[in-house]
Formats: sequence, structure tokens, C-alpha cells
Amino acid sequence: MAICSTINLPRHAVGTQHSLKVWQFGEPGASPKVYIQASMHADELPASLAAAKLLPRLMAADEAGKISGEIILVPVANPIGLNNVSLRSHNGRHHLPTGENYNRGFHDVSDQVLDAIDGKMANGPEADTALVKREVAAALAAAAPANEAQALRLELMRLACDADIVLDLHTDSEAQMHLYLDEDHWPKAADLAGLLDARVVMFARASGGGPFEETIAWPYVRARETYGADAVELPLTVVVELRGEYDASHALSDFDADAMYRFLCHRGAITEGAGLLPEFTGVAAPFSATDTLTAKAAGIVVYTADIGQAVKKGDVLVEIIDPLADGNIVVDRITAAADGVFFARSNQRLAWPGETVGKVQGTEVLAHRTGKLLYD
Ligand SMILES: [Zn+2]
Repeated sequence: MAICSTINLPRHAVGTQHSLKVWQFGEPGASPKVYIQASMHADELPASLAAAKLLPRLMAADEAGKISGEIILVPVANPIGLNNVSLRSHNGRHHLPTGENYNRGFHDVSDQVLDAIDGKMANGPEADTALVKREVAAALAAAAPANEAQALRLELMRLACDADIVLDLHTDSEAQMHLYLDEDHWPKAADLAGLLDARVVMFARASGGGPFEETIAWPYVRARETYGADAVELPLTVVVELRGEYDASHALSDFDADAMYRFLCHRGAITEGAGLLPEFTGVAAPFSATDTLTAKAAGIVVYTADIGQAVKKGDVLVEIIDPLADGNIVVDRITAAADGVFFARSNQRLAWPGETVGKVQGTEVLAHRTGKLLYD
């Protein structure tokens, strides 16, 4: 029996109320537990559209008694950011009162969890994983958020913290389908990548800044570092970038919802055949092999390569045009740092120094890609 519940967030202003709507399918505690949320960055609407298409499929499966795991779906993970409309433009990436990126600063309880499990492990992976899950949930239950955005982050973590599989649905600016996940799940997660027809899979761990999916996994990663990789199950936490912000179409969202549904079948959360799994045919490589193209000058962005194009090291992918330059109006040419696929670019055409205007996924780790790998 599906349960739909509402979680009210603390009021940011009197007379207002934001709330999360949460759908829960299957028996609480059933395995696998799968958690899916969409549009943590509130302007990434194709993610919520895909979740909206998945919801009736789950309801039908529930009616038919086919839900064998536990599935939680939050189709709109960031109701606060839906209000971030200014001068007819929606920017749902940052919390306006604090300037914080919504998908940063999630609550890291790994220190508390490691303290709590000290001396209680070595009862086998099943019991030890269950212990870590309980301690993560307890630590998050005791946390107190300071503002509405922190409360939102905490509520989402409480829902997801003991899941076996977490799909965090986002959307890039203009992009092909791509995924971020922990390399310990590769190639096992090629089932998801193949079903979604992902063109790029990036292996990310501790990218910096505390994004949702990495912070969910972090206590488990640290427990494995302390007690060994076999001691504790690492949840599969994945950021799914459902192409670009303008890719809100029935055809694409139907495809994506179907892919996720079949993935749930394949992983045993729904008792139904998944059909023949398509092979993953994209590029899978470390996040440190992702070249971010950065403008060095102000001007107009003109792309000289298409999304999805295979590029060679040194190929010019972007030109920055200064319409006020005398004579030579091309003031910057941005080239590929390595061979790869040009899988993402910006949907705005105004450039300024330091702004990221595209991404190329290669296979070799790039020397300059160290430290904090995510940009705000
Ligand atoms: Zn996002």
C-alpha cells in the first residue's frame, strides 16, 4: 500500500510554508531500499518530470502487489528553490537568503557514527551494515537545523540515509545523459548506465563541499576504510544528470522513467522482468579526467563543437567574441585538454573570466584536476 506523506519545513517567513511530499512504496525495512529524489537544484525540471512519469508506474506496480523492496520517491526535492524567480528568470541552484548552493553542505555525521560503532563491529557484513545504518539514522535524528534550507537537507538525508540505492536526479545546463558514482560500484552499476543510455559515467568520491549523494555514502566509506571493504556494504549513491535544463519533453521523460523502472525491476525492488538490458556504450572514467572549459575573457560564447562530439586534444571547442575589439574579435579560444567527448556546455552565451562554459570527458587523469572538483 502506497503512503503519501507531507513533511513541513520550518517557516522562513511568517505566513509561508514549504513542504516535502514523499511517496513510499513497499514494506518499511524491505530490501533493497531505494530512494529517488528529483531537482535538488530546483531549476533542473527534467528531473522532476522524469520522477512524475515514474510515479504512476510505481503506483500500478503497487496495486499489482509487485513492490518487493522499499521505494521512496520525492518528485520535488527542493520546493524552496521553485520560488527563486527573479525578473522572469528561474535560478534554483542557490538558496537566496544565504547564497549557499542547495546541493552542498549536507550533514556529515561520519565522526559520530565511527565513534558509535567503535568496539561493536565484526559481527558479519549484514549485522555490521545494519549497525552503521542505525547509527547514521540516530545521528541525523538528533541533528538540529539552523534554517529552512538546512532543514530541507536534513529531512532528505533522514529519508535516504539507510537506503541501499540512492538516485539523485539532476539536470545539467546543456548536456548528454551522464552519471556520477563511486568507482567501487563500477562496473556493477553499468546496468543503470546502460538502461539510461548514459554517455559518460564519472567516478567521484569526496569531491568536496558535501553534496547529497556523497554525504549519504560518506559514513559507509569511512567505516570501510576503518574496518575493510568487506565489512560494510557501500550504498549505491548516484547523481543522474538528465541531460540539459531545456530537455523537458514527454519523449525523454518517458524514456528515463522507463529506464529507472526497469532498473528497479533488475535490482529486485519490483518483482517484474526488466527485459533485455542494453549495454553501456559511453565513457566511464575518473572525475579527475573531466576537463572543465573555463573562459579567460569576457564576451559572447560561440561553440565550435556540438554536444556529444568526439574531440581531440587541442581542438578548439569554444570561441569568445568581443564585439568591441578592434579587428580581431576572437579574444579567447578554448581547446580540449585531452581526447574525449564534449558532453556538456552552458546554455547561456555570455562569458566572463573564470566562468565554466563546457566539460569534456577523457580517460586520462588531468594534472590540474586536484582538490575540490565540484564548482558551486
Ligand atoms: Zn544539480
